[in-house]
Amino acid sequence: LLMSHYRGRFAPTPSGPLHFGSLVAALGSFLDARHAGGQWLLRIEDIDPPRCPPGASDTILRQLEAFGLTWDGPVHYQHDRSDSYQQALSCLGKLGLVYPCSCSRREWREHPIYPGWCRDGAQAPHKSQAWRLRSDLGLRPVIWHDRLLGEQAFDPAELGDTILKRKDGLWAYQLAVVVDDADQGISDVVRGADLLDNTPWQRQLQKALGLPEPRYLHLPLIVGRDGKKLSKQNLAPALPCDDDQVRPLLYRALRALDQPVEKSQQQAPVAEQLAAAIERWDSTRLQPVTQRDC
Ligand code: GLU
Repeated sequence: LLMSHYRGRFAPTPSGPLHFGSLVAALGSFLDARHAGGQWLLRIEDIDPPRCPPGASDTILRQLEAFGLTWDGPVHYQHDRSDSYQQALSCLGKLGLVYPCSCSRREWREHPIYPGWCRDGAQAPHKSQAWRLRSDLGLRPVIWHDRLLGEQAFDPAELGDTILKRKDGLWAYQLAVVVDDADQGISDVVRGADLLDNTPWQRQLQKALGLPEPRYLHLPLIVGRDGKKLSKQNLAPALPCDDDQVRPLLYRALRALDQPVEKSQQQAPVAEQLAAAIERWDSTRLQPVTQRDC
């Protein structure tokens, strides 16, 4: 048996059911992991309850199962991980990399990014406060390698001081994703290119917290005919769970990932399509673009 240290993950936000764009991201990370003989974990990023309708997580699990995308081990939920996020925030505090901020969006609306007014002490210490990450300290630019897009360089200061903990006490994606990728021992992050510009903050956090750097592969984002990302807001249809509809959609998703599939496979059982796709998976076939039509 081939031993593999590969650990991948799919990490949907359960703000609604999965759609074709999320299928392509899930399938890409699944195939990359399975082809490498690695593990594929599922993490439900439910840190923002007001955005997550009840039942959405369960729908996502059923949709993944319908497409044969079975994960290893228990599902990891972010809603009960507050202690770990708090620990990371305290650690960043000791390093002087985060600060409480009382500003409201309205106050800095004339600026393209948050201008850092609270860096040397909150402007209104009695108002509720968010915690922001300093983007002006540490390595600049942040450079990393994307397996598809090549070397990436971003100056975090151009992106601004991102929020790690919100005024309402909820954790932000940037911190949660970094802490959990490390805790789950993720070696490879394979996800949609819509998250490419989040990577500098995540690399910055990994460095500051002394966490290992995963390999990155950002998949072309699937956009609708209007050029907009498929999303719940754009009313992208939810993935079906009915096998007759699942088969041709799986075939389409494999095509969207530039994998060689024969038209005759369109109606083949899910397990058969997946087995062939795992064996043939070749991430270098992916066209290095950040978006494409569905
Ligand atoms: N939860 C994020 C989303 O659904 C993805 C997180 C990630 O893959 O890093 O957009």
